[in-house]
Amino acid sequence: MEQLTISFVIPSYNEAGNIANVMKAIADEMMHQQMKYEVLFVDDGSTDGTMIEIRDIQYTYPEAEYVSFTRNFGKEAAIIAGLQHAKGQAVILMDADLQHPPSLISELLKGFEEGYDQVIAKRNRKGDSHLRSLLSSTYYRFVNKAIDVQLNDGEGDFRLLSRRAVDSLLLLSEGNRFSKGLYAWIGLEQKTITYENVTRQLGETKWSFSKLLNYAIDGIVSFNTKPLRLCLYIGLATLTSALIYIFVTLVGIFLHGVAVPGYFTTISAVLFLGGVQLLSLGIIGEYIGRIYNETKKRPHYLVQQTSIESKREGRATI
Ligand code: UDP
Ligand code: MG
Repeated sequence: MEQLTISFVIPSYNEAGNIANVMKAIADEMMHQQMKYEVLFVDDGSTDGTMIEIRDIQYTYPEAEYVSFTRNFGKEAAIIAGLQHAKGQAVILMDADLQHPPSLISELLKGFEEGYDQVIAKRNRKGDSHLRSLLSSTYYRFVNKAIDVQLNDGEGDFRLLSRRAVDSLLLLSEGNRFSKGLYAWIGLEQKTITYENVTRQLGETKWSFSKLLNYAIDGIVSFNTKPLRLCLYIGLATLTSALIYIFVTLVGIFLHGVAVPGYFTTISAVLFLGGVQLLSLGIIGEYIGRIYNETKKRPHYLVQQTSIESKREGRATI
């Protein structure tokens, strides 16, 4: 029987201090498995010594491979590059900072051997700030009402994907990628395992508040056009109440004459309507921006260098 090959895909942005650790941790885990494997580091335009570290460990670990970008294209681009370059019958996506415990690898592989196409490692929120946990749980409750696929808090990119799942994800060629939604969109047989949240040991998180907010908006608008419909409803409701207000006031004027010049009401009406209009314009702009980006058909990333020669042509960009 042909031996299974597993590809680990590790998006790495300024992770010089973590590369050797994550490689060693994976190698230690894989020692107990009768499988061939490769560890594919996707260097997302790091400006520290990440690339030097990766080349360095290649001397010790022939399983280490890399694709490096010409600049920082973001984690989503790094993931798609990893999926495109991975050769394995299954891919395990893992962060470089060891927040995705390598000790779960055997469980992920077990799920794969049981025949699941996606084995999802779900984390609890231990150690996260109360504010962040509260914001995320509210967000997921809201987003699941608004969009057509189900997203679950704590289920991120840490997962095993079968070849079939990888190929399905690669069929989705949209420019604005929101992977969490895409994993849910492809469906297939899934199994979830849970683990305790681990806090980052080395380096810093790359998620600033504004990046998180952008991610949250992507989650909603990448998946449907319901916000546009909501805009329409808000607009209709505002218009109706404005008409009722005008009618009632006019009747009042006819019956009792003008009482006090309505300075306050005028200003508040202007502000309110202005707000609604801006909101609607903003939402419409979101979609138009997306259409604009899609029509440009830009590749998700550009490759600076890669250790995987055979797949370099044609597949590096989609
Ligand atoms: N990452 C990346 N490109 C980026 C930002 C992050 O490839 O622009 C990688 C990063 O090196 C890490 C993973 O994505 O391996 C998760 O990033 P981080 O730990 O900053 O996110 P958090 O764990 O705080 O959600
Ligand atoms: Mg992290």
